[in-house]
Amino acid sequence: MSTKLLLTLAIYRIILTVGLTLDPTELLRLGLHGQFSFDPSDVETASKDFGGLRRANPLAVLHPSSAEDIVRIVKAAFESAHGFSVSARGHGHSINGQATATNGVVIQMCSSRKPALTIVSEKFLYVDVWGGELWVDVLRSTIEYGLAPKSWTDYLYLSVGGTISNAGISGQAFNHGPQISNVYELDVITGKGELLTCSEEENSDLYHAVLGGLGQFGIITRARIALERAPQRVRWIRVLYPNFSSFTQDQEYLISLHGQPDTHKFDYVEGFVIVDEGIINNWRSSFFSSSNPLKVSSFNAEGGVLYCLEIAKNYQESNADSIDQEVEDLLKKLNFIPGSIFTTDLPYVDFLDRVHKAELKLRSKGLWDVPHPWLNIFVPKWDNKSSMVTPDEDVFYLVAFLRSALDKGTETQTLEYLTDQNHQILRFCDKEKINIKQYLPHYTSEQEWIRHFGDKWAQFSKRKMEFDPKCILATGQSIFEPSF
Ligand code: FAD
Repeated sequence: MSTKLLLTLAIYRIILTVGLTLDPTELLRLGLHGQFSFDPSDVETASKDFGGLRRANPLAVLHPSSAEDIVRIVKAAFESAHGFSVSARGHGHSINGQATATNGVVIQMCSSRKPALTIVSEKFLYVDVWGGELWVDVLRSTIEYGLAPKSWTDYLYLSVGGTISNAGISGQAFNHGPQISNVYELDVITGKGELLTCSEEENSDLYHAVLGGLGQFGIITRARIALERAPQRVRWIRVLYPNFSSFTQDQEYLISLHGQPDTHKFDYVEGFVIVDEGIINNWRSSFFSSSNPLKVSSFNAEGGVLYCLEIAKNYQESNADSIDQEVEDLLKKLNFIPGSIFTTDLPYVDFLDRVHKAELKLRSKGLWDVPHPWLNIFVPKWDNKSSMVTPDEDVFYLVAFLRSALDKGTETQTLEYLTDQNHQILRFCDKEKINIKQYLPHYTSEQEWIRHFGDKWAQFSKRKMEFDPKCILATGQSIFEPSF
């Protein structure tokens, strides 16, 4: 069947399904340079995400070729008598349908037709990138100049607009802040279809609204990201702890060094839990390779649980002579199980792209495209018995349960079981009055969102009324009810 015929059939189906809600010919009349797709496979892709838990069909998918295309479609949605929702979709790595637009238009920001916008300023140490650029491509572009962004996510196949709409957190955050603290300037198309440049100095309310704004205030088409001289190599280290308190004590000590000179601190601090010799989240398992003479199983774990601190020290090849000593001095101050050091040394780019290796492995086993009932929560510092002095409000953990549900697994691997566990964890925190906040939050009622935002709700909803008064943007987040 020819593409044209397919397109015609698809349009016919849409009209039959939704009557006059959104007439595809209205979209085609906008005369965009990018491409509207009504192709069922495009629509199918835009209706799902990495979580695999929810599905919501848009009517059309737009592959924009410029910011102007997005201005026109948002303006059309805003001005149209009947209105429709518009959601930017980065790489679709949300868990709960956050980038979907039921019966509306999904803008595929990572499309192959995306504008080539990347400009590196060696003088002012920043890079300008398209909002749908993947972080891995930002790295590829900047590394050519010996430069790189300062703050990362663990996984680089995420879009700039997608992570900036959340926070963008990895082991560098204690030092540089999350990715949203490393953005100088943005171009944003508001829910009224206005294209505005914003920064600390210009349209600052919009700038602050959009950073971590869950896509509610506008579509990011350009981001100016802070750069630093890229390290060439990384000493990547894992050490083991027999119990939780010694593990977190060292983690908190390490992050307390954030103001120190580079030689006196690590550049990356994370950690994870190992249960029954398996690592709770399988993204990281590739590290304990056969090149390490020790086996995790040779260490005694209290109740079968070990805690693994993951740290990294960046360096330039010209400083290779001093790196051993620097690392040794830093490790001396930690209280891990003697002899439980696992070390590897690799190029900086390989370190940043480490999760991709795990992705390829999981893909080859058919374990990537499975449901992911992930739960990410910010947990306040609850143990104030330690003698270390840190301001309480500055210390919190991002605790991530990154699990995959398997059809053919045991009962404890099913989607139902894992989802129920997530609910139990949230109920437990509630009962014990542990004031957690979800990262990449998902709620379905206004009451839950109001509770989530707490003191920030009044400002959040006021900004929504200012920048997206008809609530047409990022409706997949289910925060505001569209007014059409
Ligand atoms: P999408 O899922 O496509 O979109 C997310 C939200 O942002 C949607 O509401 C969408 O409408 C909105 N949005 C997307 N693009 C734009 C834009 N240009 N302008 C305005 N709004 C936009 N997060 C971390 O912080 N650290 C990690 O280490 C980390 N690792 C991850 C590893 C994996 C394997 C996965 C699946 C996720 C990980 N995440 C991590 C979570 C990730 O940051 C979020 O899911 C993020 O939203 C994904 O980006 P995306 O480009 O796929 O966004």
